[in-house]
Amino acid sequence: MASPVPPRLLIATNNQGKLHEYRSLLSDVPFTLVSPAELGLDIAVAETGTTFEENARLKALALADACGLLTLADDSGLEVDALGGAPGVYSARYAGEHATDRERISLLLERLRGIPEDKRTARFVCVIAIAAPDGKVALFRGECTGTIAGEPKGSGGFGYDPVFYLPELGRTMAELSPGEKNRLSHRARAAAKAREYLKSLRPEG
Ligand code: IMP
Repeated sequence: MASPVPPRLLIATNNQGKLHEYRSLLSDVPFTLVSPAELGLDIAVAETGTTFEENARLKALALADACGLLTLADDSGLEVDALGGAPGVYSARYAGEHATDRERISLLLERLRGIPEDKRTARFVCVIAIAAPDGKVALFRGECTGTIAGEPKGSGGFGYDPVFYLPELGRTMAELSPGEKNRLSHRARAAAKAREYLKSLRPEG
C-alpha cells in the first residue's frame, strides 16, 4: 500500500535565502513544505508590530487564514547594542523600502563609524510563529551573538551576513558554508524548537 501523503506546511516567505535555509533546517518534519509561490499566493502582510513576536504572529495568521494550511512565518533581524537595538524589526527596511543588502550594510557601517571593536556587539534574532487555520499560534525564538565587522567579508548567506562577525570562529556569517550557518544561526536555533513542535503534532508522521 502506498504511504499516505504528509499534510502540507506553508513556509510563508518570499525571501529565497530564508526559504532555502528552512528547506534544509526542517528537512525531516512530517509535513511537505510548500512556498507561497508554489501555491500561487501573493499576499503581502504589513509588518505593523513593534516586536519580532508580533510580526511573526501577524504573518503566520494571515497566511494560514488565506490558504487553510498550517503556516510557518518568521520575523528576524539584527540588533546592534551601540545603536540601541537598531535596526531590529526594521532590519529589512533600514535604508528604505527598495534598498539593496549592500546599501543597508553601508548605512550600518556609516552609523557605527568610530565605534571601537569591543562596543560593536550585536545579535541576530529570529522568531518563528506556526499558526493553524483555527487561529492557534505557537512561537519559538532563537538568537546568535557576534559583533559588527569594520568591512564586509564573504559571499555566502544573505542580508547582513558579510558584516556579522563570529569572534569564536574568526569569520563573518557570510564566510561560513551553508551547513555551518545552519548549525549556529538564530534561524537554526528557532527552527530546532519549531522542528520538535512539528514532530509532536504528528508523532507517527
Ligand atoms: P524579515 O524577517 O523578512 O522581516 O526581514 C529580516 C531582515 O533582517 C532581512 O531582510 C535581513 O536584512 C536581516 N536578516 C534576517 N536574518 C538574517 C540572516 O540570517 N542573515 C543576514 N541578515 C538577516
